[in-house]
Amino acid sequence: MQQVLLTCRPGFESDLAAEIQEKADACGVFGFVRAKADQGFVIFEGHESDAGKTLVRKLAFADLVFARQWLLVNHHLDSIPVDDRVGPITESLSALPMCALWMTFPDTNEGKSLSRLTRKLERPLSKAVTPLLQSTAPWYGHVFFLSGSEAWVGYTPVNNASQWPLGFPRLRQPSAAPSRSTLKLEEAWVQLIAEPQRASMLKPFQKAVDLGAAPGGWTWQLVQRGMQVTAIDNGPMDKTLMDSGQVVHLREDAFAYIPKRPVDWLVCDMVDKPARVAELMERWLVNGWTRFAVFNLKLPMKRRWLEVRQILEKIQSVLEEGNCRYQLKAKQLYHDREEITVFAAPRDY
Ligand code: SAM
Repeated sequence: MQQVLLTCRPGFESDLAAEIQEKADACGVFGFVRAKADQGFVIFEGHESDAGKTLVRKLAFADLVFARQWLLVNHHLDSIPVDDRVGPITESLSALPMCALWMTFPDTNEGKSLSRLTRKLERPLSKAVTPLLQSTAPWYGHVFFLSGSEAWVGYTPVNNASQWPLGFPRLRQPSAAPSRSTLKLEEAWVQLIAEPQRASMLKPFQKAVDLGAAPGGWTWQLVQRGMQVTAIDNGPMDKTLMDSGQVVHLREDAFAYIPKRPVDWLVCDMVDKPARVAELMERWLVNGWTRFAVFNLKLPMKRRWLEVRQILEKIQSVLEEGNCRYQLKAKQLYHDREEITVFAAPRDY
């Protein structure tokens, strides 16, 4: 199997293409990438006959910034008969042992309109593939529909992929939160911190600083976790949130603010040059002013992967020079638009 299909936010295909090309090369898996603007996925085409399999084995999915999900392609079906979709799809799924079946589609308007079709197919297709299922198999069978008659069929590795078929968790906007941005921080915690560690990293009575906090969507998340928050912003904070008694609002410049004592969490959602935000984060981490950090890097430029790679490498090298043993995880989350989210935690955590 030579091809790997990787999904992304529509509009970010060239960034994902540049990223996977570079990372596949670094793994010694050579090939090229087919990417069309706004289709919500790219195809890595390996030169060797087992290139796809080697790639999903060697490259950690969690290290990909712009990819939401991936699948090792077995077949591209482009003329599925509308009166018998189950037959040809089931036939294409007999190459590898699989533990369950996923049906997904691109995050485009046309893609989303296919959710009805996948719901309709769920029963008959699940029934048809039942004899192929083995509960301990290391693959999910995966059908990625482009239309009612076209689909990419293949396999997603159970232990090296997003745990959500579409690549992101479904989160509900809390009605009490002061802004929609609140879901960015919630998703960051869910996507970037492994479940067993989440409870020990996010605890009541922890101290947090929110840089660029107004009107308070991220602060609201911290308050929900029972934390005491210092919110830095010249703009006004949501009144109900301030009434919680857990927030101190300082109208100061976030780039100049220094905490009196180290805190547990630093979060930052300021719209500024990514290199400038990165430097600010380096300062907080190297000086030990915070233990954990979640921050956004806004990416208004064209070559976003190049910018992201350079910034992440620079943060990593500044941390190492400062003897600061940190791990960084970066991802373009579902709730991120022209931006990515980075999570930093001590390496031994
Ligand atoms: N995370 C917030 C929420 O969920 O409600 C939204 C933050 S908004 C995208 C960015 C905020 O950063 C704005 O309120 C802006 O006033 C603030 N900001 C930008 N530059 C700043 C600076 N130098 N110091 C303090 N706040 C700043």
